[in-house]
Amino acid sequence: MSYDLIIRNGRIIDGTGNPWYHSEIAIKNGKIIKIRTQIEREASREIDATGMIICPGFIDMHSHTDFILPIFNKVESFVRQGITTNVIGMCGNSFAPIHPDRVEEFRKFYTRTIPLYADYVFTWNSFREYLEKIEKDQCPINTVPVVGFENVRIAGGPGYENRPPTPDELKKMKEYIVEAMEAGAFGMSTGLIYAPQVFAKTEEIVELAKVIAQYGGLYFSHIRDEGEFIIDAINELIKIVEKSGCRGGHIAHHKISGKKNWGKSRDTLKLIEETNNRGISITYDQYPYNRGFTSLTAIIPPWIHEGGPDVLLERIKQISTQKRIKDDIEKGIKGWENFVGNNGLESIYISSVVSEKWKDIEGKSLTEISQIKGLKDEWEAMFSIIIDDEGGSTITVESMREEDIQRIITGRYHMVGTDGLGIPNRPSLGKYHPRFYGTYPRILGRYVREQKLLTMEDAIRRMTSFPAMRLGLTDRGLIKENFWADIVIFNQDTVIDKATFENPHQFPEGIPYVIVNGVIVIDNNKQKRKFPGRVLRRPL
Ligand SMILES: [Zn+2]
Repeated sequence: MSYDLIIRNGRIIDGTGNPWYHSEIAIKNGKIIKIRTQIEREASREIDATGMIICPGFIDMHSHTDFILPIFNKVESFVRQGITTNVIGMCGNSFAPIHPDRVEEFRKFYTRTIPLYADYVFTWNSFREYLEKIEKDQCPINTVPVVGFENVRIAGGPGYENRPPTPDELKKMKEYIVEAMEAGAFGMSTGLIYAPQVFAKTEEIVELAKVIAQYGGLYFSHIRDEGEFIIDAINELIKIVEKSGCRGGHIAHHKISGKKNWGKSRDTLKLIEETNNRGISITYDQYPYNRGFTSLTAIIPPWIHEGGPDVLLERIKQISTQKRIKDDIEKGIKGWENFVGNNGLESIYISSVVSEKWKDIEGKSLTEISQIKGLKDEWEAMFSIIIDDEGGSTITVESMREEDIQRIITGRYHMVGTDGLGIPNRPSLGKYHPRFYGTYPRILGRYVREQKLLTMEDAIRRMTSFPAMRLGLTDRGLIKENFWADIVIFNQDTVIDKATFENPHQFPEGIPYVIVNGVIVIDNNKQKRKFPGRVLRRPL
């Protein structure tokens, strides 16, 4: 018998957290079938990994690739950083279910940010149909699907209305979650700063989480506040896990946002530790940058979102509405995470716009924009962009401090997630967050090699076997015989991210080979037209 692929001469870091060892790896039919110090037989292809690390492919615990998968399926910015599996459907946004009467509304919503959806035909409604669709479209990397609360609330619940669901709506929402879990979803996610999810009280989410509990699903959450009230927000997540009885909670992109809150990571990590000690399983992921990334409309108060995006755009044109928004942001609203109030208008940078009129200011702060365009102030810049761009613009917000980032990286319940999208290498898309390209190499180069905050073995464990275990993937995340051959080969002396906020569309260096299900996708730093990724289903 010959093999499909043999990797020789590298150092294996197997994903367990154990130190490296020398061995050779033989791959056949997508799986690692032999690991020995010497493999005599031949293979149709060999890779000489002299001087390199061979480790399991990275599992991105938090991605939004679903936003772009129907129109771009090469996920270049992900596969080039060594990601071989990504979890989608985060922050409450998945691309299913879509109520049959709401397909047009859904298309319109996404067209505002990604104009290519204008002509796209959505052919699915249920979660199962959606998974079959993305399976047919193919992708270079594996996908772990999670159902988003926003979709469920719009499809079967009160939608953009600021009220609890009726018993009938609650029943319908539960049916949608049953459908998704039976189709193979790994759990449910929420994004409690975003409309309409922001209108849901804790009890509404507890009721829905009870459904995922029956299927052994995980509860993922972009929590209600990442700044002043972060402890309350984590306590809400803990309460949802505890009351629903689901097997665990996962905090999305854990961060401390807002200058006056810096340092609170001490308290959040302590709370997470104590909660785990009493038998409630809480984990988190993180991207290693000091700016967040979201939509421009996320920084305005929840009340203006009531009724949905069309109503918002009509209302925001009125001067009296703009005045009320300004007052609310300046004074704050209890229970609402106020990005501008926490960080200042000068910390908001426009990363992408759709309208030609504003294309030249991508990457600039609201302060710079108001100067360049000769506007009265940042407020005028903000309202004008929202109106001209119909709410489709995205922003980065400078909100975090390095000390918190470092503390969160070293936490015991930490894993890595990009909170990004696997996008094509097209600068015309806008100045998206560099985490789309650089999250994993940035940790390996900057935080492991340069700062020595983690050992290489520990960092790799947080990128591979820890997320695999958390998700319940029993045959991925380790270099081990009979495991799927998802493998990254990188140079530990040179691996580094190159993407910046000013110039985000840059691939990292030092990751010459990426293998997914035994197929070489990145071959000597070049992406091949190969689509071996699978849509994974929650193991029964
Ligand atoms: Zn989020």
